[in-house]
Amino acid sequence: MKAATFQGKGNIQIREVPDPVIQNPDEAIVRVTYSCICGSDLWFYRGQSPLPEGSRIGHEFMGVVEKVGSDVKNLKVGDFVIAPFVISDGVCPECTVGETRFCRHGMFWGTNGYDAGQGEKVRMPFADHTVVVVPDADKLDEHMMRALLPLTDVLSTGHHAALDAHVTAGSVVAVIGDGAVGLCAVAASKRLGASRIFLVSTHEDRAALGKKFGATDIIAARGEDAIKQIKDATEDLGVDAALECVGTDGAWQIANGAVRIGGNIGFVGVPHGVADIPVAKLFNNNVGIKGSGASALHYIPQLLPDVLSGKLDVSDIFTKEVSLDNIAEGYKNMDERTEVKVIVRP
Ligand SMILES: [Zn+2]
Repeated sequence: MKAATFQGKGNIQIREVPDPVIQNPDEAIVRVTYSCICGSDLWFYRGQSPLPEGSRIGHEFMGVVEKVGSDVKNLKVGDFVIAPFVISDGVCPECTVGETRFCRHGMFWGTNGYDAGQGEKVRMPFADHTVVVVPDADKLDEHMMRALLPLTDVLSTGHHAALDAHVTAGSVVAVIGDGAVGLCAVAASKRLGASRIFLVSTHEDRAALGKKFGATDIIAARGEDAIKQIKDATEDLGVDAALECVGTDGAWQIANGAVRIGGNIGFVGVPHGVADIPVAKLFNNNVGIKGSGASALHYIPQLLPDVLSGKLDVSDIFTKEVSLDNIAEGYKNMDERTEVKVIVRP
């Protein structure tokens, strides 16, 4: 079968790899029908995070079960499944409390001999627990498939940012970051009942998407200017919840500056070069900070009904589609930020 591989900085190539076969009784083979490129894939693509050359890549995918091992009870051939961006066993103590991202037997797709998502097929461990089955998926149309795919990562991550920042009915929220995660954080905040949502975005096309997803105010500024505009709009108070969805020091400065006394910061941008958290300032302002990668396996069943009903639809984050053969073009587009998110069809 064909699969995307990382061959060094800026170099993604399709390679012929062995077809997966069941090796342990708890495994399943899934034929990938949709995958996509993640903003976090750009960290290794740009050489900013280490990844061995030849690595299999891709952690956001959905597909159809083709084979199951003899111990698998919750999946059957033909089931349509959504894969969270991390493999987890679903039964360990961490998984049991909903922190599936931190499964003590967890691993990333494409490691330990398992396949990754940007390819034709995937062998997956813990098949009974590591994916979510969508019932009657054969009745769903192409649009709904595009609405479901963000559950694998970015929509679950945006939801996690909002929960970690305690977004609830009536909250005033600032989302820092207009990538796919930031845009999904806007939609997730609206779903949770936020009354006002600032989106920090200096890109008109992304700001327009943010407005469609529920942003009430666009802050087309950076740094101190962005903070001042948010403060000016909130009687100099700041926001209840600041959602940091980038991972850079600049984004953190806006989150720190925009959050009100007694407010909360939820952060889901993978930190790269962020200055230490100013503990003394937190003490003076009673600000809470919480964040991590999202436990998507835990969130997908919570969000799925609203996606299937059409109430939660972020399908517009996919601004381009490429075939698996042309995936390198998709990486290039996302690296150059000419596309928000690229969908890949094997
Ligand atoms: Zn676990």
